[in-house]
Amino acid sequence: MPRVFVVEDEEDISGLIRYNLEKDGYQVGVASSGEEGISKLRPFKPDLIMLDLMLPGMQGLDVLRHLKGDAATKNVPVIIVSAKTSETDRVLGLEIGADDYIMKPFSVKELASRVKAVLRRTAPAPRRQTLRYNGLQIDFDSVVVTVDGRAVHLSPFEFKILAFLAQNPKRAYSRDDILNNVWREDAFVMPRTVDVHIRRLRTLIEKDPARPEYIKTVRGFGYIFNFSPEP
Ligand code: CA
Repeated sequence: MPRVFVVEDEEDISGLIRYNLEKDGYQVGVASSGEEGISKLRPFKPDLIMLDLMLPGMQGLDVLRHLKGDAATKNVPVIIVSAKTSETDRVLGLEIGADDYIMKPFSVKELASRVKAVLRRTAPAPRRQTLRYNGLQIDFDSVVVTVDGRAVHLSPFEFKILAFLAQNPKRAYSRDDILNNVWREDAFVMPRTVDVHIRRLRTLIEKDPARPEYIKTVRGFGYIFNFSPEP
């Protein structure tokens, strides 16, 4: 069930969006100001944000800048919903990183199709049940990891870190990126905790943990998973 968060000060509009999206099976969260939105967004973990530009207090474009500058929200697609018709605002919004723009007033049909289109465009590739990487096999449904056919026992966090990196191979992630993608809850976890888990992961999956082949360190930044899944 996709989760949509709406930042909109006009209650009849946020109500209209909520009503129609909930009817289509979405989970909807609402905030009536930018400040409220920023504080409620993180725990809500939306798949999509709908953002009004003309808000009391913090302006929509500043909210957007904030979201795009925060590792926890920068990858969440944003649809700007606004009556502001100036092309400058629209272009600026898209430049800051919004994915689409809905002009007020909008029809319920347009709302549904834009939301669906953005979610489809930004959805991660469908997850396969089992992935193999150069001797390492990860079964996502049974949560079993084997190295050259031998099962290794990972803690839930270690499995989540490995699964996250392996499903996004050849991309460097900072410790904060990893934390934000692996710890769904708002648990207080220090970025250094990632190092501890990765060190243990390496003793379990690497042939030589001192010269890791699967999870490599990106010096001064974080980690990268080195193999793409085999077809
Ligand atoms: Ca408004």
